[in-house]
Amino acid sequence: MEKYMKAIRENVCAICVDSNEMGECKLTEKELCAVELFFPQILEIVQKSNDRDYDLFEKALKEDVCKKCRASTDGDYCYLREDSNCALDRYFPLIVEIIHKVDAGKL
Ligand code: SF4
Ligand code: SF4
Repeated sequence: MEKYMKAIRENVCAICVDSNEMGECKLTEKELCAVELFFPQILEIVQKSNDRDYDLFEKALKEDVCKKCRASTDGDYCYLREDSNCALDRYFPLIVEIIHKVDAGKL
């Protein structure tokens, strides 16, 4: 798991709008980063799919992640997603690429 998180920190946190110029997360303890919080579920969703069907990914994310996330009551509507304030939602295509690269030994 650590190799994935290292790649996420170096490639997602580094460009995330919620990080400082050093790539360090600026979120407070009261805020949440769904990428960090739900990374095992995200990894499973990406690795068990052979293709890159983002409609299927979105469905799986809503079912397996958003329903468990405190920002959403039903998994479907999320005020953070509405405001582009969820890093998972913002950077999901990049996260998929990173997971595939780590699995291919390219990161
Ligand atoms: S919000 Fe998440 S993705 Fe963004 S810098 Fe913080 S930990 Fe990284
Ligand atoms: S979109 Fe909302 S409910 Fe889903 S993971 Fe992000 S913050 Fe949580």
